[in-house]
Amino acid sequence: MSANLLVVEDEPAVREMVAGSLREAGYEVREAEDATSAWHALRGARVDLVLLDWMLPGASGYEFLRQLRREGNPTERELPVILVTARGEEPDRIRGLDAGADDYVVKPFSPRELRARVRALLRRAADARADRIEAGHLAIDRESCRVLARGVEVGLGPTEFRLLHFLASHPHRVYSRAQLLDNAWGHDVFIEERTVDVQIRRVRKALAPHGADGYIRTVRGFGYRFSVAD
Ligand code: CA
Repeated sequence: MSANLLVVEDEPAVREMVAGSLREAGYEVREAEDATSAWHALRGARVDLVLLDWMLPGASGYEFLRQLRREGNPTERELPVILVTARGEEPDRIRGLDAGADDYVVKPFSPRELRARVRALLRRAADARADRIEAGHLAIDRESCRVLARGVEVGLGPTEFRLLHFLASHPHRVYSRAQLLDNAWGHDVFIEERTVDVQIRRVRKALAPHGADGYIRTVRGFGYRFSVAD
């Protein structure tokens, strides 16, 4: 079954170009010209991935994304989003990832690049739902709570495992310490945020002999993200 995409873009020419190119690739594509119609589209039909322009009239793509992540239902909070931006500067990219984008493309982009990003993100989203995540040297198995690095077991405690599994199932996304506490420890826990740093250090130490400690990146001033390659 082909995936359903939502293209949120206010410039008709760009929107038609993007939507047309994705339809040619076999996707079902809906279009929205601002945040309000994007909400309507999301609530009206199944959407598997959103291509979201940063600069929109009214609420910006950035604000829409923050709202989606904070106030959306559980499916919406996890919905794969590619942020489309004309700004390639590092602080803006970090801001976009921090707001909850899974990936971003910088205008101008080629339709081919966009399709490749869409394909990759849909695949990652499918992996995150699956029981086994493969990332770089690692195979992370949720059912057995085991991590293998090139076939060799990595010794991790339960919290360390949940932390690594959570980060690896949302690669490239930046998570604050508070968000990691919510997701790897569970809601309503009262643990100091620096505990996250301690656990991250332990995970890195366990991964280091396998050359995978660099997969967990520190994002200064924000938190952490998982990325096998830049
Ligand atoms: Ca725009």
